[in-house]
Amino acid sequence: MNTQQKKMFTEIQDKSLFEQAQKHAFQYLDEAFQRTIFPTEDALEKLSIFDEDMPQNQSEGREVIELLHQYGSPATVPAIGGRYFGFVTGSSLPTGLAAKHLATYWDQNSAMYVMSPLASKLESVVESWLKSIFHLPDTTVAGFVSGTSSANLCGLAAARNRLLRNQHWDVNSNGLFGAPNIRAVAGCQAHSTVIKAIGLLGFGQNSIEFVEVDDQGRIIPDLIPELDNRTLLILQAGNVNSGSFDDFSRICEKARNAGAWIHIDGAFGLWAGAAEQLKHLTQGMEFAHSWAVDGHKTLNTPYDCGIIMCADREALTEALHMTGSYIVVSKDRDGMFYTPEMSRRARIVELWATLKYLGASGIDQMITTMHERAVQFADEISALDGFTVLNQVVFNQVVVCCDSDEITNKVLEKIQALRECWVGGSVWQGRRVIRVSVCSWATTSNDIATSVRSFAKAQAMLEIIA
Ligand SMILES: *Cc1c(COP(=O)(O)O)cnc(C)c1O
Repeated sequence: MNTQQKKMFTEIQDKSLFEQAQKHAFQYLDEAFQRTIFPTEDALEKLSIFDEDMPQNQSEGREVIELLHQYGSPATVPAIGGRYFGFVTGSSLPTGLAAKHLATYWDQNSAMYVMSPLASKLESVVESWLKSIFHLPDTTVAGFVSGTSSANLCGLAAARNRLLRNQHWDVNSNGLFGAPNIRAVAGCQAHSTVIKAIGLLGFGQNSIEFVEVDDQGRIIPDLIPELDNRTLLILQAGNVNSGSFDDFSRICEKARNAGAWIHIDGAFGLWAGAAEQLKHLTQGMEFAHSWAVDGHKTLNTPYDCGIIMCADREALTEALHMTGSYIVVSKDRDGMFYTPEMSRRARIVELWATLKYLGASGIDQMITTMHERAVQFADEISALDGFTVLNQVVFNQVVVCCDSDEITNKVLEKIQALRECWVGGSVWQGRRVIRVSVCSWATTSNDIATSVRSFAKAQAMLEIIA
């Protein structure tokens, strides 16, 4: 045993490194729900401590952990709390965090059954739970990926595979040069990750046939061009600004009958389908062929949790297929066949733990509560002079603007500087807007009231300056 090994065996045996990390983690949890929602200027400046040349020599483990705690932790964004409304950013359930904590020590590679029978088992179980939560066809399979960016890519790859197969073209072997033409149709407010996937898959972003949307960002069904069995139709459950849903019940069955492949980007919105009060929003989505959804947004699993679900197993696995002489295909589930990656951490552990903890009724309650908090926000902010809500708050998103783009920008800047809540900006119907995304189990009525007060405070500060 060399001295390096000796040192690390000692670290394993005496556990003090792990205790130190755990102590800091617990302190973080104690503070995260009260802390300023964005790092202070001081914390941001001190990040320069990390600017150093690649160290020549080994460090002490406890110094490494201490650096992370002392300078890393204050420069994090504590989105786990109830007043982070930026982008569409989920919190984490305590049980999900704890499961991840335990699984950290397991450090499983979930590529194949033989590499982690546990991960394989949990993936099979969660696949069947998801089918039942979302009422998807029996043939549906699921792949566990890093997020909806990746899940969209997988769904569209499956579509490409199937649509070209139907034209007697094997895209894996023959590529796209000289292939029969495949059309891609999407709403003109499709998420940027969908557009990216279209580019990556070689369809050509310029060839997308964009369909006009209504004032909520929903595809206007009557404007969808003629569909056929060479068409990929991309729909959306949850517009990233307004939270609106395409009208699946009007679109999907018809598109399916025309032979088109339907992919639904439901990164955060698909979970509406798991709530009694909200599931009318996703009605008809079961006629699609592939669905992309995140665990780490509305479901509040820890980060790095996306899911591709596909009713056409063969199309998905063929699109993502790989082989190697050392690969042992088992009779049990080998997760890598449903994802682009081979080695993957066992993110399924946190996803399973979150679903097991909540149960169907717990998911329903959590999602419904997020919706209610979004409605509360919209009601309270509209009651103030100078703020207007521009969208129908059908789910968890609220789009707010002030009397002019200039004022909206300034108010947004002040809200961010106050650090009592965090919201981002966007452009909606040609206007600068503030986006509020309620996406945390921890958001209470008080958090909403505090945040609305922060909006008012920001506005008042501007008036004083003017
Ligand atoms: C967030 C989001 C994505 C991308 O998902 P990631 O998990 O960030 O990769 C795609 N589509 C929509 C509608 C989203 O909100």
